[in-house]
Amino acid sequence: MNLLTLTAENYRNIPSARLSFSPGVNLLYGENAQGKTNALECIYLFARGKSYRGAGDENLVRFGEKGFRIGISFSSETGEQTLEYRYFDGSRKRLKNGAPVRLSEMIGHFRAVLFCPEHLSLVKGAPQERRAFLNIALSQCRPVYLKLCDDYNKILENRNCLLKEIQKGFRYDREELYSWTERLTDTAAEIAAYRIRYLKKLAPHAADLLSDLSGEKEKLALSYESEAEGETEEEIKTSYKRLFSEKIDREIAAGCTLFGAHRDDMEIRINDISARSFASQGQQRSVVLALKLAEGEVCRDETGEYPVFLFDDVMSELDATRRGYVLRETGGRQVILTACEFGGFDPGSVHAIGVSGGTFTERTGNGGKTL
Ligand code: ATP
Ligand code: MG
Repeated sequence: MNLLTLTAENYRNIPSARLSFSPGVNLLYGENAQGKTNALECIYLFARGKSYRGAGDENLVRFGEKGFRIGISFSSETGEQTLEYRYFDGSRKRLKNGAPVRLSEMIGHFRAVLFCPEHLSLVKGAPQERRAFLNIALSQCRPVYLKLCDDYNKILENRNCLLKEIQKGFRYDREELYSWTERLTDTAAEIAAYRIRYLKKLAPHAADLLSDLSGEKEKLALSYESEAEGETEEEIKTSYKRLFSEKIDREIAAGCTLFGAHRDDMEIRINDISARSFASQGQQRSVVLALKLAEGEVCRDETGEYPVFLFDDVMSELDATRRGYVLRETGGRQVILTACEFGGFDPGSVHAIGVSGGTFTERTGNGGKTL
């Protein structure tokens, strides 16, 4: 899959731009605070459905304006396609090939893997970060998974409200609690089974990549960590049912749901030692890079083509071996990366675009062309 163009109007600090990308390595370079990350955020929005920086649409509008308009065109095995996202005065519109679509219909067509400095805390950060990694990776390969997570969050919110009311002594409707628990059990088991299956596909790729990156010194193992036992949906469901019935008093005392897909984690072990507790900074970088590249490999196994790789400001964090991995051309991988300087990149093999004050200038042999 290749990103062909990006257009943006009044998106963050970008007044108006149209960028073209090459199939290989593309570099957005410029000083700090010029719009490099804004451009990547904009591209990734079409893969994730929303800003990965957690910003609401109103924050994406250029200061002083009332709305923004962004669009991409990309080529995939199914041909050339376009996606557009418009936001104006509080209302949003998504278009796929010119026709309006819902969020769930937009996701899963343009697929991308993002790696940014914040992701370096994936190994040692809170379980929430590792769940988010699994959720985002899975929803791109399996768009139905996104709907499942939405359903789960709504059920969880309702069950938590009820548990809080019971805790405060306002009411105790056993039937209602039973019904929410049953729905939560079913959805939690389905999500956990999806994640376990995904990890089984991701783990061998990630292990191979880390082994290569570490000169075969490091053996990576990934596993799903949950209070519920089992691997299949049925086994997990049975385990959750038992947990919920045995520990309901604890949940009422806490006033919230203590078990489920929102409490699970991905365990990362290097040479059989917990990476969360013991990995060095270099090991964390290698593991995250291996996970991100492995995400791309699974995506290719599942969909038949590589996603677009977006690397924001991570080159300076990586040593020469790891940089080589990012830049290596492997059968049609498109990479779009950002850096503060052009120096260090081979002008012959990189499509370079300079970024300054929200405008983009293609680097050519004889000066620049504003895009
Ligand atoms: P760095 O190298 O420091 O990471 P960058 O080029 O990636 O820099 P961006 O994160 O893309 O920088 O941000 C560029 C500028 O966009 C920032 O100065 C920021 O204040 C500005 N900006 C963010 N949101 C908006 C907005 N809604 N309207 C106008 N400008 C904005
Ligand atoms: Mg940036």
